[in-house]
Amino acid sequence: MDYVDSVIDLIGNTPLVRLGRTLDLPGTGQEGEQASGPLVLAKVEYLNPGGSVKDRIATRMIEAAEASGELQPGGTIVEPTSGNTGVGLAMVAQQKGYHCVFVCPDKVSEDKRNVLRAYGAEVVVCPTAVAPEHPDSYYNVSDRLASQPGAWKPNQYANQHNPRSHYETTGPEIWEQTQGRITHFVTGMGTGGTISGVGRYLKEQNPGVQVIGADPAGSVYSGGTGRPYLVEGVGEDFWPETYDRTVADRVIEVSDADSFAFTRRLAREEALLVGGSCGMAAFAARTLAHELAGTPEGRDAVVVVLLPDSGRGYLTKIFNDDWLAQYGFATGQERPTRTVGEV
Ligand code: PMP
Repeated sequence: MDYVDSVIDLIGNTPLVRLGRTLDLPGTGQEGEQASGPLVLAKVEYLNPGGSVKDRIATRMIEAAEASGELQPGGTIVEPTSGNTGVGLAMVAQQKGYHCVFVCPDKVSEDKRNVLRAYGAEVVVCPTAVAPEHPDSYYNVSDRLASQPGAWKPNQYANQHNPRSHYETTGPEIWEQTQGRITHFVTGMGTGGTISGVGRYLKEQNPGVQVIGADPAGSVYSGGTGRPYLVEGVGEDFWPETYDRTVADRVIEVSDADSFAFTRRLAREEALLVGGSCGMAAFAARTLAHELAGTPEGRDAVVVVLLPDSGRGYLTKIFNDDWLAQYGFATGQERPTRTVGEV
């Protein structure tokens, strides 16, 4: 019989899928046709059981805290998150018998809160309209909860087991799946855990592998000051401790308009229903593929782009024409994006 004991045993070992017609390169659009230019492969992380790449860091951070004694049997995991990391933590915590409390601002949608509750987690909603020093603020509530006996806060922005999980799993998977032929790795950056862990692993195997970050225009990673952008899960207004500043060879800046238009194309043309940060990263990979096409280097190039999550969480946003129109975005057309080097 072929089975696992728990869904958490299914985390990782996600497949690579070749991107075709969305690259708009000759020779990559037809079914069964062999690509002539760079080969662009998407690492599809929504196939993790919790639906995102964050299942990887959730397991690793929890196992490390168990080993160090920071997390004791029956303990409580407290994290200020409502996104993918919350889902990963809630799933792993439930299976391992821990209680989970997530603190989130009231602007977080009811659907997202209900996903966490569905796994058995508790959600504490804080008012956005209070100052950070107010006792009910997001920061104060999570600090208070985390300082209670038996509580442990993973803190994905500082926890080195976040990049380590990618160094130990995502990186080796990509290396083995491409038989060591990967030449470029492209990914978005939020905590920076993915790029730091995967990038370091790949460069240790072959220092020639180019590590490329994709970043929303306005974020610090591409030289911005944190100016608002709408793509979720990526870009920062500070430098997280989990980000290794030495690992990226280059950062490609992508506008919200290009991220959302490309997210829609991935669903419609590659049947990959993925989130906005995936559209952003894949658009950067497409930009790179166009640069490489026709060059001697491009013929053997193998570009891997990591797609962190599913489009299911964005049906009322990116996949809703009215929402896009409200922010002035096109529903199908792309607009040009400059890379940082060109600005
Ligand atoms: N995309 C999404 C949807 C995410 O939730 C995250 C994590 N914040 C990322 C990309 C970026 O991954 P990392 O934190 O490893 O940089």
